[in-house]
Amino acid sequence: MPRPLLFLVYSGSVAVSRITAGLAALGAASPLAVALQGEPAAQVAPPATELRLVVMLAVDQMIPEQLERLAPQLEGGLGRLYRQGTVYRDAMLPYARTETGAGHVTFSTGCLPRSHGVVGNGFWDRGLGREVYCVEDLEVCQVLGSGPVEGSGQRSPKNLDRPTIGEIMQAKNPASRVVSISAKDRAAIGMAGRSQGLVLWWDKNGGGFQTSTFYSPSIPDYVSHWNDGWLERNRGFVWEPVGNRTERDFRLIGSDVDDREGERPFSGLGVTFPYSIAKDASEKAMGNFAFETPLCDRFVAELAREAIRQESLGADDDVDLLCVSFSSCDVIGHANGPFSREVTDVLFRLDRELGLLFDELDKRVGADRWALALTADHGILPLPEYLRPRGVDAFRVPRGESSAFRGEFVERLQERLGSRVRHRSAPGGFRLDEEEMKAAGLDPATTRQVAAEVCREVAQRYPWVQTVYSYEEIQAFDESADGLEKLLRNSFQPDRTADLVVVNRPYVLEGIEKGTNHGSPHEYDRRIPLVFYGAAFPKRISSRPAGSQDVVPTLLGLLGVPAPGTGLDGVDLGSDL
Ligand SMILES: [Zn+2]
Repeated sequence: MPRPLLFLVYSGSVAVSRITAGLAALGAASPLAVALQGEPAAQVAPPATELRLVVMLAVDQMIPEQLERLAPQLEGGLGRLYRQGTVYRDAMLPYARTETGAGHVTFSTGCLPRSHGVVGNGFWDRGLGREVYCVEDLEVCQVLGSGPVEGSGQRSPKNLDRPTIGEIMQAKNPASRVVSISAKDRAAIGMAGRSQGLVLWWDKNGGGFQTSTFYSPSIPDYVSHWNDGWLERNRGFVWEPVGNRTERDFRLIGSDVDDREGERPFSGLGVTFPYSIAKDASEKAMGNFAFETPLCDRFVAELAREAIRQESLGADDDVDLLCVSFSSCDVIGHANGPFSREVTDVLFRLDRELGLLFDELDKRVGADRWALALTADHGILPLPEYLRPRGVDAFRVPRGESSAFRGEFVERLQERLGSRVRHRSAPGGFRLDEEEMKAAGLDPATTRQVAAEVCREVAQRYPWVQTVYSYEEIQAFDESADGLEKLLRNSFQPDRTADLVVVNRPYVLEGIEKGTNHGSPHEYDRRIPLVFYGAAFPKRISSRPAGSQDVVPTLLGLLGVPAPGTGLDGVDLGSDL
């Protein structure tokens, strides 16, 4: 089995060139290696460093501003990545539907939603004639410590239309191990895809980590053991900010006051620290509490460290893959907004957990033998109540206003068509009722076009609506499309895109009275952190345009593994390192 390896030419301890496996055969003292390094052969330190583990790290909903503003006080893993890695500070998602499922699969496949097919967290499946959750699969079921639970938690990667990096690595070398862990099913499965390995996510209904029969009929003993003990270990947990920071410390890093307008209360727990739950709370209540506080991030980190030890990740020359997605930033960000005390604390805690994780990797795998890519699956709109005093025209559209828009649209459409065709909410837009179209003898494509025109006319009276496109209009966008049209094209999948896509103006939250959301094509939802870390990646801040679709091409370049036959949409950023 040819070993995928990274070969580095060293000058002292600084990697000065990054060449692939093919060049490695030439040896460190070869004329080419010397030419790349630009130093005499006698000064070349011969040992090559072989990469043994790739880490794919997602922080759900983390915007790049978080790293920049918190950097002075980040002393753990996040700080290490930001200060020592290659940071793409202008990274953005190049597609319209900025949702968790789409973001994780773009990260793991190097492809855009229009290619990998996971256009959002859910979609209207035209073939099935129903709404489908992005990782649902009715043929499989969840697996707990006690074994498979028939008919429950049916999740698999069957809706992914492109291979993930784990699959690509295992196709090259079946001995490569893959581990993927998150609090969210769509994150853990979205990153692993059809890789053979350990894929775990949090069971909100009972607490503990689960997998799917798609991956395995059982979970490892050490995971069962962890599941048996988490509840007792965490009873009495009170969520308070770590680090004894003063008001001034928080002000210096742009963290807003704790109690502020627009925050959505945690389930019955208010909007200010401390957050706690009854000591004798049920397992289900504790499972939820863990998901809604940074406890779940700690659990994911604990399991990741345990998996490194138990699965012997990075222990030999078969390069392994560890995927980890931390969800607390998103769960809490939706309730409190990105500049809240709560999210600030989530990130300080994550910084600490990642510090421990990276220490474990240094110890077990070797400091030069693991490489990492950090990104997020999407950004977030700060709370409108936070933005308005700062001069941004952000606002919430009340539910009544939203219903009025839809009601007027249906009425006008009926006038135009001469028959009643109601709209239904579909993920990412509206769909038109197929039965009603059929009964009225209407051609779906023509009806969609008429509906888009009517919807645009009605939208003139609702200034928070920016524009409306029909399915056919988006389908017609080609490679020359630019701006919003290009973003919509990149989120288009013929079987999974709604009949009408309604795009609201920037800084508008529709139908949400408290907290905030993402999912729009606007910049604040598309901005993501993108950092590469490891011996091959110089300490650098780059303003080169990039996105999470570039991660897989870059890592495959590093590994010397060719792209899959189905192709990639991203580019290898390693060419300019
Ligand atoms: Zn997300």
